[in-house]
Amino acid sequence: MQTYLKTRKLSTCKAGGGKRLYLSYMLRRIWIGICMLLLMVSACAQRPDVERKKLALGETDVWVELSYYGQPRAITAINVHDDECSSVEAAREWLSENGGLLIRIENGGERLLKFTIGRQQYKVDPNRIYSKEGAAKSLDRFGEVSGEAVEAAYRFGRDLLALVPGQTKCMVALHNNTEGGLSVHTYRQGGDGEMDTKEVIHMPERDPDDFFLTTDSVMYQRLAAAGYNAVWQHNEEVREDGSMSVYYGRRGEMVYVNCETEHGHVEQCGKMLREIEKALKEN
Ligand SMILES: [Zn+2]
Repeated sequence: MQTYLKTRKLSTCKAGGGKRLYLSYMLRRIWIGICMLLLMVSACAQRPDVERKKLALGETDVWVELSYYGQPRAITAINVHDDECSSVEAAREWLSENGGLLIRIENGGERLLKFTIGRQQYKVDPNRIYSKEGAAKSLDRFGEVSGEAVEAAYRFGRDLLALVPGQTKCMVALHNNTEGGLSVHTYRQGGDGEMDTKEVIHMPERDPDDFFLTTDSVMYQRLAAAGYNAVWQHNEEVREDGSMSVYYGRRGEMVYVNCETEHGHVEQCGKMLREIEKALKEN
């Protein structure tokens, strides 16, 4: 009897030990499973979910690519000139680390959008279509202009901006320029953009082609304080050219920043994009 009890006790004890071992084995397995899942989720965040949307521009279809790096966040990046790839390259890297959305017009690597209405062909700059006045000037500059072409270009611009998520607090427009073209000097005293500018800062040690243009005074001050070339657009007096900066400057509903860098300045563009994010977080 005693032996039996002893054995039973022992066996119970043994069985209990087995359960504990099994439990800890299962917990380890579950823990490893959770870790693997977390790793997979973070790996997925590196690669975007890409969605393509077709927008009508007159009788022409224009494809717009939306790359979601995780959930949309407060920042939406937008690239309208398909020949300005350095800025997009930098933005993709930045977004893959931080998450966010990139909206990009697919235009076969070209700057101007071509479209037809009837038998007539038109050409327009996709950064001049956010007012009818700007669209008309741009169409006229690059070829034919008509009332219906202005309407079509303007409507396309509206449809494009309707893709910007509602929670966007800051729009970052990605642009590249060429040496000796548009630069921070354009907005300084005597430059073509002087009258559109409230304040401008030029850092002599910086390449003048790498600069920010923003509609927001606080963003301007922070970017300037961080040592970058920066332009604060005069939102009240800026000339209506149909550009996105004028559109958002007039509306004032969110912070808008153009990140302008010279073609090929991918690393510099990446640093500047991170600076915008830093400036947004400061309070
Ligand atoms: Zn551009």
